[in-house]
Amino acid sequence: MPPLLGANLAELTQWVLAQGQPAYRGQQLHQWIYEKGARSLSEITVFSKQWRDQVADVPIGRSTIHHRSVAPDDTVKYLLRLADGQIIETVGIPTEKRLTVCVSSQVGCPMACDFCATGKGGFTRNLARHEIVDQVLTVQEDFKRRVSHIVFMGMGEPLLNTVNVLGALEILNKDVGIGQRSMTLSTVGVRDRILDLAKHHLQITLAVSLHAPNQALREKLIPTAQRYPLEDLLAECREYVQLTGRRLTFEYVLLAGVNDLPQHANELASRLRGFQTHVNLIPYNPIHDADYQRPDSGRIQAFVAALKKQHIAVSVRYSRGLEANAACGQLRASK
Ligand code: SAH
Repeated sequence: MPPLLGANLAELTQWVLAQGQPAYRGQQLHQWIYEKGARSLSEITVFSKQWRDQVADVPIGRSTIHHRSVAPDDTVKYLLRLADGQIIETVGIPTEKRLTVCVSSQVGCPMACDFCATGKGGFTRNLARHEIVDQVLTVQEDFKRRVSHIVFMGMGEPLLNTVNVLGALEILNKDVGIGQRSMTLSTVGVRDRILDLAKHHLQITLAVSLHAPNQALREKLIPTAQRYPLEDLLAECREYVQLTGRRLTFEYVLLAGVNDLPQHANELASRLRGFQTHVNLIPYNPIHDADYQRPDSGRIQAFVAALKKQHIAVSVRYSRGLEANAACGQLRASK
């Protein structure tokens, strides 16, 4: 039997009925799992002692915090231990008004991008629906504060695990109460999956990791781009915008001397012409086994200015949590 976390009210009600319990127990179970953060059925004191004893072994499906580190900017990185002993990373990013959770969608990642610590570490398995939902509940409990935003930007490629990611997204929206408009899914691009996503008519923001303005450079940085060329990816993105009427964001990691020259900015701008979009530049965060460099702020500003001059909306994301190895690209299930 799958863990109870990740089930909606109807499914939980069905389960309690099958246990010979009255339907309202489903509502109670739902509240204890999603609002009170119950980790085992034996904690649910509104249930009779006798029934609790009977179902004490049924898993709710929560992870445990294996390690927690706080960066000087208050970003918290969690290493979470799953039921099978696998470790994943989740990041909680607080500001005065927001609490954002950066969730993982896989244990490791098979995309093997050359500048990303997760990609360097290889791939183990997809996360189940409850393992994705759990990350958000864990951060919410630890901060003792409601999570307001979710970014699917942790370990893994979410569009290689679409069924579980979309299942979790629905639970996080309907059962945990986080608005779809406050959720962003980031992908490096998997053929046809962006269009599949469009068919779900979600209100989430889609972010596409582009990182290069041409195919030759892109496939050096992102090995899987060989099988899914930039032209095809951009065509799929255009179709996504047409189908959904939603804007999408392009992410672009700035690697000094590699993709951050004025000619790259100009080429990027001409590629994106006519696209209702926004470019999010991410200055490279150093990782152990890659020898890229972060460009200095003069270079970053020059890239920004070049895009602006071509009327491309652009912002720079200075990732938080750098000192705790919690920043974009640094997640690899280690302290
Ligand atoms: N697989 C998805 C989700 C991961 S999101 C994707 O690639 O979009 C993580 C974001 O951080 C991506 O935009 C990724 O390209 C970026 N990133 C990876 N390594 C990085 C690094 N070393 N420095 C800065 N950003 C990095």
